[in-house]
Amino acid sequence: MKTSRKLMQNGGITIPKDMRLKLGWKRGMSLDISTTLDGGLIVRKHVEICRFCGASQNLCRFRDLVMCRNCADTMKGALS
Ligand SMILES: [Zn+2]
Repeated sequence: MKTSRKLMQNGGITIPKDMRLKLGWKRGMSLDISTTLDGGLIVRKHVEICRFCGASQNLCRFRDLVMCRNCADTMKGALS
């Protein structure tokens, strides 16, 4: 699927409804946005990762901070 869209004044773009439906993206969901070396943009469904090492499994949360169990254990050891 490919389409063209104009960039709005506030920097936003509208992702076509058929693409949103195909991807299962719903209003209000979080998206991860990154740039590519060739001047492109990648938009993906948000995946939570450890704030410290980038792991995406065995995550836990402390207030607003997401971290993996390994980093949490390392932090616990450093504080005790
Ligand atoms: Zn970690």
